[in-house]
Amino acid sequence: MPTVFERIVAREIPAAIVHEDEWIVAFRDIEPQAPFHVLVVPRTPIPRLRDAGPEEAGILGRMLLVARKVATEAGYDDVGFRCVLNDGPDAGQVVPHLHLHVLAGRGFGWPPG
Ligand code: AMP
Repeated sequence: MPTVFERIVAREIPAAIVHEDEWIVAFRDIEPQAPFHVLVVPRTPIPRLRDAGPEEAGILGRMLLVARKVATEAGYDDVGFRCVLNDGPDAGQVVPHLHLHVLAGRGFGWPPG
């Protein structure tokens, strides 16, 4: 059963895509937690970070570079942005397809909730 992100990557369901390349698709979160909230998703459906091995080093690096690109393009390079990767139930991961949240446009507290 494909996840919602696999279906977005396959263009089976719509999303507001802000970046795509051979490895990565990035699109706006449907329930934004900040004025800017984008999800950076590898095309390959790795369920969780714990499932990534050394062979995924390249894709993990690319996810961070795309996070920087979309935040910079949206004008948040100076004020900054936050990247969040939820892994597993305690972290609140809902969709079992590795993804990086990129949030910007407001101040964020620390520690996170
Ligand atoms: P996580 O809790 O880290 O698994 O985050 C899953 C995220 O996916 C949540 O922030 C949801 O709002 C978001 N989401 C779920 N379905 C969609 C969708 N169809 N389009 C965009 N974002 C979605």
